[in-house]
Amino acid sequence: MTDQRIYNFNAGPAALPLPVLEEIQASFLNFKNSGMSITEISHRSSYFDEVINDAVTRTKRLLKLDDRYHVLFIQGGASMQFAMIPMNLLSPNDTADYINTGTWSTKAIKEAQLLGKSIDVVASSEDKNFSYIPKDISFNKGAKFVHLTSNNTIKGTQFYEFPDTGGIPIIADMSSDIFSKPLDMEKFGMVYAGAQKNLGPSGTCMVIIRKDMLDSANEDLPSMLKYSTYSSKNSMYNTPPCFGIYTIDLVLKWIEEEMGGMKKIEEYNVQKADVLYDLIDASSFYSATAEKYSRSLMNVTFRLPSEKLEQDFVERATQHGLGGLKGHRSVGGCRASIYNAATMESMYALVEFMESFEKENK
Ligand SMILES: *Cc1c(COP(=O)(O)O)cnc(C)c1O
Repeated sequence: MTDQRIYNFNAGPAALPLPVLEEIQASFLNFKNSGMSITEISHRSSYFDEVINDAVTRTKRLLKLDDRYHVLFIQGGASMQFAMIPMNLLSPNDTADYINTGTWSTKAIKEAQLLGKSIDVVASSEDKNFSYIPKDISFNKGAKFVHLTSNNTIKGTQFYEFPDTGGIPIIADMSSDIFSKPLDMEKFGMVYAGAQKNLGPSGTCMVIIRKDMLDSANEDLPSMLKYSTYSSKNSMYNTPPCFGIYTIDLVLKWIEEEMGGMKKIEEYNVQKADVLYDLIDASSFYSATAEKYSRSLMNVTFRLPSEKLEQDFVERATQHGLGGLKGHRSVGGCRASIYNAATMESMYALVEFMESFEKENK
């Protein structure tokens, strides 16, 4: 228990920028002089229209998207997209290629298979416990799309470069690295991200989809599971996750106005990750679990010499106001998730703690 804000390394839901939380707090009871909270106003009001339109405009400006793209907000998290993608985009005669780089890709593959779709897992790093990103992949010429997970939140790996698919559009689950660096959308037909890592509260998924991807999409689907329902109604066919979209808008505003945009935030993220990896690389006590040229700038996964020490490490860190450092239950070890909102100050606090823990336990 503490009466102070901790250094928060949670994987998701994760830390949000303090200025964003403060702005939410300050305007919570009376949003833009409406006399109501953002959680109390109609999604059909001009107040909310402004919010959702601003979130879309900022997304397009930050990621340099032209009019070929829809920006949608869909409930059900990133996991819902695992099903919506094959449902909408694969007809009975279509096939798709999937790259398996860990837990989330595996789940996406499973959903497509559950729906009876024809997919081919063209590459996997399962042979080495998903500790690397596969290279030199050959794709099926007729594939409708290539699905991949750009950052593997649990295994701590990340695509630095996206594969050359020979023009087949890539669909990427960018839940844990969207808006962490500039994005060149040319290779992508769609990217999507559950909000709770880099963007806002859980429950909202941002979907960016190129309009032509919907040209041959299946229309005989329930309304709520069909992209065209969202694209034709500015994501407001039903009541959207208003608070989530509002928070996302504030986070995007923070990136643009306080962090200096995508290039700057990338530089900051590289510097932050370097601080941790430099310590881990120089140490014989801590060891990184991901291969050097695949390791993530967002989720730094590492191990200590024994499970007992890992347990002590997490416990002692918590006592020092450093939270969320336990690795995912499926892999063990430790993990520091350092998304956009993690500060350099929190890196230094963690490094200082890691150094003193090593000294005491070596
Ligand atoms: C967290 C995460 C998900 C799951 O998101 P939900 O919103 O819980 O469905 C999917 N993919 C990746 C890469 C994630 O990090």
